[in-house]
Amino acid sequence: MFEYKSFSPEDTAKLGKAIGESLSGGEVLCFSGDLGAGKTTLTKSIAEGMGIVDYITSPTFTIINEYDGEISLYHFDVYRLGDCDELYDIGYEDYIDSDGVCIIEWSNLVEDALPNDRLEIRLLRTGDMDERSIELEAKGQNYEKLIESIEGKL
Ligand code: ADP
Ligand code: MG
Repeated sequence: MFEYKSFSPEDTAKLGKAIGESLSGGEVLCFSGDLGAGKTTLTKSIAEGMGIVDYITSPTFTIINEYDGEISLYHFDVYRLGDCDELYDIGYEDYIDSDGVCIIEWSNLVEDALPNDRLEIRLLRTGDMDERSIELEAKGQNYEKLIESIEGKL
């Protein structure tokens, strides 16, 4: 596990860019953390690191937003989802199996639907207003190298 200390949205963006630059396609990034923890802020900078120029907004009312780039980004926010069935109804598994990158905000709410191999990213408020702890944990076999690559870019 890798813990990153952020003291500002800019610090969080620095991590996001390092993550985005380290992705090669097909990854699943699972975000957990309370409202306002910085999940969407981190997603924006990951997209930037991937070279995606679109304006990234929270997909809270649409469940998923798609962004095209050299590598596509599928940005889920499952906060308002009733259950995992709704996720399968919108073709979730095709996104997970695709060559694009999936980011799932509030992934802890759909734990049963998550692939075994994934990068868990937990955002926690710590102390002061802008202070965050951001934990990266590889689940399964394939994500340790990704964490090493991210650390190398910081
Ligand atoms: P979430 O998607 O987790 O609900 P957002 O990214 O939409 O959170 O909002 C996070 C808010 O907190 C933004 O207004 C952002 O400017 C602010 N913020 C303050 N400090 C930080 C930090 N260290 N990292 C990320 N966001 C921060
Ligand atoms: Mg959000």
